[in-house]
Amino acid sequence: MVIDLREFKQKGQFTGDFNFDFTPDGEILPTLGAKFSNETANVSGSFEIDGRDVYVYGKLTFTVEGECARCLKDCSKVVLLEFDEKFSIFKEDDCYLYSKDRIDLTDMVNDLILSEAPQIIYCKPDCKGLCPTCGKDLNEGECGCSTNS
Ligand SMILES: [Zn+2]
Ligand SMILES: [Zn+2]
Repeated sequence: MVIDLREFKQKGQFTGDFNFDFTPDGEILPTLGAKFSNETANVSGSFEIDGRDVYVYGKLTFTVEGECARCLKDCSKVVLLEFDEKFSIFKEDDCYLYSKDRIDLTDMVNDLILSEAPQIIYCKPDCKGLCPTCGKDLNEGECGCSTNS
C-alpha cells in the first residue's frame, strides 16, 4: 500500500490514481462479534501533489462476517468508507507523515477501520431480533409473548 511519487514526478505528473488489494489487520476491527471475510480488502483513489503536501482521497472497501446483533444469525456486510487526507513531510496536526517520496497508506487505512467501521452488524436493516422472553426469532413470526405481557 505504498504510492511511489517518484514514478509520477519523473513523468512530470502531479496527480495520479492508486488501487491496492490488501489483507486487513484483523486485530483492529471494532465490529462486535465479527471478523474480516477472506475476500481481500481494497483501497483506491487519487492523489494530488501540492509542493511538499500530498492530498489523498478515495474509498476503502472490505467485508465483515459475524453475528447479527439482533437475531445472532451469521451474516456478512460490505463496508465502504471514504477518505480525504493530507500527507506531509512535516509533522502537523491532522495529517500523516511521509518521506522519500513514498506515501504509505497503512496507518491511514488502519485508523479509518478503527474509527469508522460499524460497531455492530445486522443480517438486514429491519431485522426484528429475538424475543427477550422465549428467544424465538421474530423474523420467522410472532411468538405470542408480547400479547401476554
Ligand atoms: Zn438479524
Ligand atoms: Zn416470545
